[in-house]
Amino acid sequence: MNIQGLLDDIVTENNAALQEGAVADYIPGLETVDADQFGIAVAMNSGETYRAGHSSTNFSIQSISKVFTLALAMALDGDELWTRVSREPSGTPFNSLVQLEQEHGIPRNPFINSGALVVTDRLLTLTADSQECLQTFLRQQSSNPLIQVDEMIAASEKATGHRNASLAYFLTSYNNMVNPVPRVLNAYFRQCAIAMSCEDLATAGGFLSRGGRGVDGSVLTADQVRRLNAVMLTCGTYDAAGDFAYRVGLPCKSGVGGGILAVVPGICTIAVWGPRLSKSGNSSAGVTALAKLTARTGWSIF
Ligand code: GLN
Repeated sequence: MNIQGLLDDIVTENNAALQEGAVADYIPGLETVDADQFGIAVAMNSGETYRAGHSSTNFSIQSISKVFTLALAMALDGDELWTRVSREPSGTPFNSLVQLEQEHGIPRNPFINSGALVVTDRLLTLTADSQECLQTFLRQQSSNPLIQVDEMIAASEKATGHRNASLAYFLTSYNNMVNPVPRVLNAYFRQCAIAMSCEDLATAGGFLSRGGRGVDGSVLTADQVRRLNAVMLTCGTYDAAGDFAYRVGLPCKSGVGGGILAVVPGICTIAVWGPRLSKSGNSSAGVTALAKLTARTGWSIF
């Protein structure tokens, strides 16, 4: 299979999809990006990496960070975390407050903001510095020691993160937040503001397609990684998860910076990036590209 040829074709064909949707503006820092960029990278389990477009340009990983914090929490904590967060799709926007009250402070899943705040809280308890732990992990797994927080984005999120603050205080009222809210929020905003390229992301996510095997030993057991992929498939793209499963057929995690990480278990990890988002908060060009790639390669978990 000529994977490089497929990626080149997808980049060439993707111009129309790139114009669909709008760049996230509720975090003002994200608006400064050149929205006409598009990148894709495929990291094969066999070791080769294929890339096309703006695959080495850094972007804000945003909610894609939630896959990695969940992996770290699962690695350190086993099943303990699941007493504080469920594993069901939410069917509501990623930053919604509504379900949290109806369900007594237990977030629907670890990939909506309320659930991710609980994961970050747990990781803070387990590691003392969840942000440092995440950054070290991403640098190691991608073999890129330069990965770091984009301070402008972190400050922008902090200045406008009232909804996340509401979620965190609400969780505290249900005794589902252990650390002080400002500390959890700071760690959460900083993890979301990490900047990475498609190449970095596809490489760093390699353990997800290799049964938990990272660059230097096991990150998670094969059993744990199967479960993490299941949560990505059902919850990783918010209330568009059904459409993603239908169109792409792979475990995916998106972020409002326009990135999407997709896993083809046993074969490869894919990262795509296009800043304009559909209404559900997923990259329009990213989902179009993934749908084309999976249709042409036959990569699917189904
Ligand atoms: N930092 C963003 C937020 O908390 C992450 C959301 C996302 O990428 N879906 O709102």
